[in-house]
Amino acid sequence: MRFETTAIHTGDRPDRAFGAISTSIYQTSTFAFETIGKTRGYDYSRTANPTRKVLEDTIAQLEGGKAAFTFATGMAAETTVMHLLKTGDHVISGDDIYGGTYRLFQDVLPAFGLEFTFLRMDNRKRIEEAIKPNTRMLWLETPSNPLLNIIDLEMVVDIAKKHKLLTVIDNTFATPYFLRPIEYGIDLVVHSTTKYLNGHCDVVGGAVVTTTDELTQRVQFYLNAMGTCASPFDCWLVLRGIETLPVRMKRHEENALAVASYLKGHPKAKRVFYPGLESHKGHEIARRQMKGFGGVVSLELEDGIEGVNSFLRKLKVFFLAESLGGITSLAEHPATMSHASMPKDYRERVGIMDELVRLSVGLENIDDLTEDLEQALEHL
Ligand SMILES: *Cc1c(COP(=O)(O)O)cnc(C)c1O
Repeated sequence: MRFETTAIHTGDRPDRAFGAISTSIYQTSTFAFETIGKTRGYDYSRTANPTRKVLEDTIAQLEGGKAAFTFATGMAAETTVMHLLKTGDHVISGDDIYGGTYRLFQDVLPAFGLEFTFLRMDNRKRIEEAIKPNTRMLWLETPSNPLLNIIDLEMVVDIAKKHKLLTVIDNTFATPYFLRPIEYGIDLVVHSTTKYLNGHCDVVGGAVVTTTDELTQRVQFYLNAMGTCASPFDCWLVLRGIETLPVRMKRHEENALAVASYLKGHPKAKRVFYPGLESHKGHEIARRQMKGFGGVVSLELEDGIEGVNSFLRKLKVFFLAESLGGITSLAEHPATMSHASMPKDYRERVGIMDELVRLSVGLENIDDLTEDLEQALEHL
């Protein structure tokens, strides 16, 4: 079945008991054994749950992976993946990544003996020079949060294979509808399902997609051992969100391209970041490797932090809030919100300036969105 059909025909539908068309929510902590050592496939909901399993199988299919696992949050998914490493291992990560990922790598995991190098992943030589004898993993985010930088996956996977490094990609921004990293040879895909996969700003969740039996067994083991799993009800909500992922992503992109093009011509917008713009540095790679450019647009304003504050206060259709990927348009200030965990000098070195605003373009009428931006920019 094709992507749109897979997103809707999830699990066993209609269900075998009553013909229900919607997936059932197995809101249970535990399952009765038939006898010692004999279950009906499930024993305890931390280990596995039937509703969760439907979501996991769906995400695995959409990404073209071997299996998938779902977690309480995107960060729980990432934390679980990082346990595949051991003390003394070195990780090379993109430098402009989600702020919470940076905090996990910079402020949490080094205490357990993991070592990190952050760099811009757009140059083969730079990546190869950073590889050390103890390097085990490349951590990638494309398009990146919040600068929408694009990583050439063919190039990076080629390096990884040569040096036997595990590749992990955070595919939250693109979603499998626009980018299928496993087709490029990526080993593990992680998601914050909080964002586009769920799409309605009413769940926090995460996912990991595996590509080999060994990775599947290890991720499953750590999920159960560490208890980082998602709840049945949250899984059901994400499943419902995924049914409309293709139509939402198309519309997110259409609106985002219109917003980016509008801003690009505006005298108050110093710089506009959107991979769908021909002027974007990664445009050609994005065009080649993705089916679409996504729904996030970032911009730098002319009038510094005061300008940003006044702009964000004036917005009415875009809500000033963290997060992205929902049907509702959101605007946020990376320097004090999503990326506040990055020290100012690091942030500015990678290009996340104080005057940067990130827009998650939702599914509202495009004229209402551009008019909202217009009236907020007018006041600058
Ligand atoms: C939000 C986000 C995360 C973290 O996910 P949570 O569900 O908030 O824990 C990770 N990566 C990216 C790219 C994100 O946008």
